[in-house]
Amino acid sequence: MRKLFEKISDTEDAPSQMVKPTLLIVDDVSINTALLKAMLGGSCNLIAVDSGKKCLSVLEKDSEIKIILLDINLPDIDGYILCQRIKQLEHHKDTPVIFVTSNGDIESEERAFEIGAVDYIVKPLRPAILRARVATHLTIIEQKEKLKYLALRDPLTGLFNRHHLYSIAGKTLNSAHRYHSPLCAVMLDVDHFKRLNDTHGHDKGDKVLTGVAKCITENIRAHDLAFRYGGEEFLLLFERCEFEDAYGKTDELREKIASLTVDSVSVTISAGVSFYQDEDDLSLLINRADNALYKAKHLGRNRVEKEYVQKRD
Ligand code: GH3
Ligand code: MG
Ligand code: MG
Repeated sequence: MRKLFEKISDTEDAPSQMVKPTLLIVDDVSINTALLKAMLGGSCNLIAVDSGKKCLSVLEKDSEIKIILLDINLPDIDGYILCQRIKQLEHHKDTPVIFVTSNGDIESEERAFEIGAVDYIVKPLRPAILRARVATHLTIIEQKEKLKYLALRDPLTGLFNRHHLYSIAGKTLNSAHRYHSPLCAVMLDVDHFKRLNDTHGHDKGDKVLTGVAKCITENIRAHDLAFRYGGEEFLLLFERCEFEDAYGKTDELREKIASLTVDSVSVTISAGVSFYQDEDDLSLLINRADNALYKAKHLGRNRVEKEYVQKRD
């Protein structure tokens, strides 16, 4: 068991929370809880509750719980109904539920799978079987998280990719529209990057792009969004940010990138800033940022320009 978990957490880009996953035990009989803790403890963090109500209250607060080990016969709520309630929780609708029960009849087991359980373990527990089944579900979770990460990210820089931009753009623009919240877009392009590649080689070029992306990530707020838009082009979305502030932040970022050296190579960037206007779609917002970027290039590079359009009545 320990070996298996170590293998999971050794994986290079394994999400950090998988190092020691947290499991929730829901059982009203303390000896059962103690047995589960003895069999699974050491490799997992275990939280135990003795009622359905406490289970829901823990899950509402804790989105890090990876697996739920659920008894069927609970004092306040039937385990099947509890499982269905868990499936309605925003942060736990996909959290695997494993029933751990003394109901060994096939109908009970069938019902558990019908309502969304991923596994059904009948007491008395066999330690090796319990560990193997839990480990299997942890491996599946880890692989799902990795796939999700890879689907949203650019592999070179680790920034969000364009696919993710298109999937969240609607929500971001709608929220700016509905709450009259200022939203800015920044199109940022590395200057003379072709020349850098030609002079220092493509590998060095890749390192510079990674360094620029790291600098962007380190200098934006946690809720700002950074995407690799194209080869050496990056798009930033600053939510809840006024136009002048976005301009100022981008200019500071430009200065930081200009003072950066990656393996003794320096670069500059040019950027264009645009401001969301009601009823803009993503392409309008990006086009204006692009126009401003074009202006910045035209005016000599290593600078930030903005394009503002008069608010419609
Ligand atoms: P400007 O200042 O006008 O932006 O000039 P530029 O040379 O940066 O622009 P241009 O569009 O002519 O060239 C961009 C170069 O970026 C060409 C392409 O080979 C390079 N590039 C695109 N993606 C990558 C990448 O992933 N790694 C590396 N090393 N280079 C890339
Ligand atoms: Mg360029
Ligand atoms: Mg370019």
